[in-house]
Amino acid sequence: AAAGEESDVVVVGGGPGGYVAAIKAAQLGLKTTCIEKRGTLGGTCLNVGCIPSKALLHSSHMYHEARTSFAHHGVKISNLEVDLPAMMAQKDKAVAGLTKGIEGLFKKNKVTYVKGFGKLASPSEVSVDLIDGGNTVVKGKNIIIATGSDVKSLPGITIDEKKIVSSTGALCLSGIPKKLVVIGAGYIGLEMGSVWNRLGSEVTVVEFAPDIVPSMDGEIRKQFQRMLEKQKMKFMLKTKVVGVDTTGDGVKLTLEPAAGGEQSILEADIVLVSAGRTPYTAGLGLDAVGVETDKGGRILVDKRFMTNVNGVYAIGDAIPGPMLAHKAEEDGVACVEFIAGKEGHVDYDLVPGVVYTHPEVASVGKTEEQVKASGIAYRVGKFPLLANSRAKAIDDAEGLVKVVADKETDKILGVHIMAQNAGEIIHEAVLALQYGASSEDVARTCHAHPTVSEALKEACLQTFSKAIHI
Ligand code: FAD
Repeated sequence: AAAGEESDVVVVGGGPGGYVAAIKAAQLGLKTTCIEKRGTLGGTCLNVGCIPSKALLHSSHMYHEARTSFAHHGVKISNLEVDLPAMMAQKDKAVAGLTKGIEGLFKKNKVTYVKGFGKLASPSEVSVDLIDGGNTVVKGKNIIIATGSDVKSLPGITIDEKKIVSSTGALCLSGIPKKLVVIGAGYIGLEMGSVWNRLGSEVTVVEFAPDIVPSMDGEIRKQFQRMLEKQKMKFMLKTKVVGVDTTGDGVKLTLEPAAGGEQSILEADIVLVSAGRTPYTAGLGLDAVGVETDKGGRILVDKRFMTNVNGVYAIGDAIPGPMLAHKAEEDGVACVEFIAGKEGHVDYDLVPGVVYTHPEVASVGKTEEQVKASGIAYRVGKFPLLANSRAKAIDDAEGLVKVVADKETDKILGVHIMAQNAGEIIHEAVLALQYGASSEDVARTCHAHPTVSEALKEACLQTFSKAIHI
């Protein structure tokens, strides 16, 4: 849309939810404007989330492999060292390339890109404080709020991004801390903890809950924690942080058992607070327009992603549901399809989850605990990577595949994988669940040999019959 002209769709926020919605809207022939305050597109995910974290996870994994595994494979290296500025530069280059790429996609699809902070002035107008100065009002028949989320701190803890950092600070530390304490054992804390652990930090993860990553299948979670402990990460579960002292060189944390009891002190050079994220709606003018949120500040929407205000929609991390980039993208596409008068659909039961440690942990569908609680009779098929020829050939055989299937119909209800590349292998399972496949369907599908994917086929065989290789 040219300046001043009314758009069909105005998207506030250029993250994976917002930019995908904008491109899809333009592809459907709608005149589209996207407003982003950051100065670059791609949101949390590309700038300070998924992409830079995966860049550092890969680089640190390469160093760790070189240090611990290369010799065993007959590859000798001397004088191995980490060049942290170079590692950070490769990460920054990846981020810059991808964010610029989205700008290119906006141009290609004729999405108008307005750089500035948007505020709802009415259900059809967004007032924008432009990054380059001045203000403009963008008019739209439909407004999509895609403002995402922000880091959440804990009571009594101030994130200064120096000694007490959020994931954003943990992605650009200027040196390798000797001692890193991670508060919160969710996927972001474990991924960032892994990065610095591999680079040489002593990492301790403090978690209030009795378990790490509570959404994970219990059996997989136990093996996952054991695997991280083998990699020398320490865990203090059922523990709360009750005091923080930053007056000395490092940080002194006062800890207490979650149930109360004797306090202890834990020292760190850097503390990473990864205790969850909170919807980002500050200064957006939701109250002025009357958009309803829940207690946690998440914008409430109906099945068509419309808020209680006609013509105002919301998607992604700003609404309830898993705070994941691919979920935000799915929301964006479905929301725009509804706006264009078509049918949109997101299957929230089949949003895969991946923790990008090594090995990776990926899952889709229900955990065994969830199936048990629902009262459905079920069978479990498991296959260890130790019995998978590809994993053995490359000496990377830690993990297992677990399949939960309905006992009567054999329909697959959930798949949980801990394996190198689990984040890629899981999509075969996502498709299987999407199409209502039985474990026999997967087991009778020819899988290339030797691949780690064969472990999924064998786990499926194991649910209704017998795997060949165990
Ligand atoms: P966001 O990506 O947060 O984008 C919202 C955008 O809106 C931001 O760019 C913001 O600047 C802009 N904005 C906000 N308010 C305004 C305003 N008033 N005016 C203009 N612009 C505004 N998810 C995964 O699926 N896989 C991963 O591997 C993964 N890794 C992660 C690692 C880390 C360290 C973090 C922090 C997150 C990770 N996530 C991952 C989560 C993922 O980043 C989010 O789920 C995803 O970015 C949500 O997309 P969104 O479009 O809803 O919001």
